[in-house]
Amino acid sequence: MGGRMLTTEESFDGPVELTLEQVVTLRRPAWTSSEQQDDTEFYFDGVHFWRQRPGWLHQLTPPSEVPADGWLHSGECSCAVCRPRTRLTA
Ligand SMILES: [Zn+2]
Repeated sequence: MGGRMLTTEESFDGPVELTLEQVVTLRRPAWTSSEQQDDTEFYFDGVHFWRQRPGWLHQLTPPSEVPADGWLHSGECSCAVCRPRTRLTA
């Protein structure tokens, strides 16, 4: 934590970052951007959260142990959060 904070309104060309709450609400596959704690990345498959660490098998992870923000959807996602950006780059 302590990195730069971008609100979704300030979406430049970069990917839209979502909060954990948005990820759970939207129920779409999502993953965290890199530079999380120890090279560990987290993935949400629409139902469950997974921990991904280099050299490790994916580990099922409770929502209480995943980052509260910094989540990304696919670049082709068309959910309510990503759609404005998709239209912009189309
Ligand atoms: Zn999305």
